[in-house]
Parts: sequence; C-alpha cells; structure tokens
Amino acid sequence: MKKIKLENSNIHRGNLILVNENHPIEEKYAANDTALVNIDFWNHNILLDYLAAKELSHLLNELECGNDIIPVKGYEKSSPLVSPIKDGEHSTGLAVDLSANIINKAFMSQGFPKKGICMEFRKLAAKYGFIERYPKEKESITGVEYQPGHFRYVGYPHSVIMEELDITMEEYLKTIEDYSAKQKAFCYRDKENLYEIFSVKAENTDSTTVEVADNIPFTVSGNNIDGFVMTLSLKLQRALT
Ligand SMILES: [Zn+2]
Repeated sequence: MKKIKLENSNIHRGNLILVNENHPIEEKYAANDTALVNIDFWNHNILLDYLAAKELSHLLNELECGNDIIPVKGYEKSSPLVSPIKDGEHSTGLAVDLSANIINKAFMSQGFPKKGICMEFRKLAAKYGFIERYPKEKESITGVEYQPGHFRYVGYPHSVIMEELDITMEEYLKTIEDYSAKQKAFCYRDKENLYEIFSVKAENTDSTTVEVADNIPFTVSGNNIDGFVMTLSLKLQRALT
C-alpha cells in the first residue's frame, strides 16, 4: 500500500464536483483559462475543460453528425447577475449546452429533442463521460428545471453508472458516500476493467491521506461537498487472478 496525500483545496476541483444551489462553486475554484480549450464552432467562442472538449469531439465524430448538433454554451464566468442555481455549472467548464441545428446554420432553434440525431447523441453520451444533467423527472432532486440540451462531463465510468441506475449526480454522490477505502468500494465492471469507487472525507487539516494499493491506476476528484471520490481501475485479468 502507498499513502496518497490529497490537498484539501482540491475538494472543489475535478470531474465529479457537484455544483447546485446547496453547493455553489467559488470563483477561485471555477475553471481557469489554462485548463480550457476553444471548441470553436463557426467562430463561436465556446470554451470547455480540456478533457470534456476532447471527449465531446470523439462523441461527435462517432455520431458523424457533421454540423447537425451545435454547442451553444460552454464555460461561462459566474456572475452575480446569472442565477447560480440555473447556470452555475457552466463556470466549471465541464458543462455544455447543445442545440440541434435545425434551420440551416442559424441558431433559430435552441431545442434538443428526444428524437433523431439528438436521441442518438443521448445514447452515446455516457460512453464518453457525459450525462444529461437536468432530466424532467428529476427536477425535484436537481432543483433545476428540465434542460434537455445541458450535458455535464463527469467522466467514465461514472456517467455509465448514473445512466444504468437512472440517478442524478446528487443521488450518485450520496450513494458513493456509503463506500470507503477501509470498508468496501462501489464496484463496476465493463469488458476490460473492474472499477472500485469510494469516498474519502477530508480531514480537518490542509490535506487528507488515503492508502491505495501499489501499482493500481487511480483518479481522484473533489466532490465540492466534503471530500473526494477515488476511482481505481483494475485490468480484468489482474482482478480475476
Ligand atoms: Zn447549460
């Protein structure tokens, strides 16, 4: 086992930060320009977190949808004028609003219907780490009205787990809270990997220490609440032997 030291300021950084009415993101932790890239559609200056942008472009490539789907909003500096409840997530650089390009290269429609190419996008989204963040039937949980075109990058496999369990980020982080390094991890397996996911509560100091088995790749994200989510990925041959 090796000891990993997590800086507590990183509670507010990472793919799994929950940003909502109860957990706004402070400006100093919101995405900064160095981590953002311009996804540039027809000179629309749309900035996204580097990884989110990369996965979105892979997704759109697989869809072969040309310009049928257009990003209309990415990173946006949080401002007191913008409701933190409705739009605060854009200040992370991890959220993108998409629109179907229904009328010839003009942004006449801001819709993202549950049919056609937009439905095809939805089917692929989780594979690339995106979730539909504000579904209609979950308004009471997210506290945000239905926004069919608003997608949030949370990273794989979290996106797939949320989709399979039909839960929001709020519910997912609550679920993961019950799993810890010392007891048991939440397990998810796909064809190649076994993922072990668990929460780490931040200690009352500047940093938090967690023990991880040697030679197992892992990622860490803050939850923007009280700690971190660790994701270990074990190649299946290794997991089975
Ligand atoms: Zn949005």
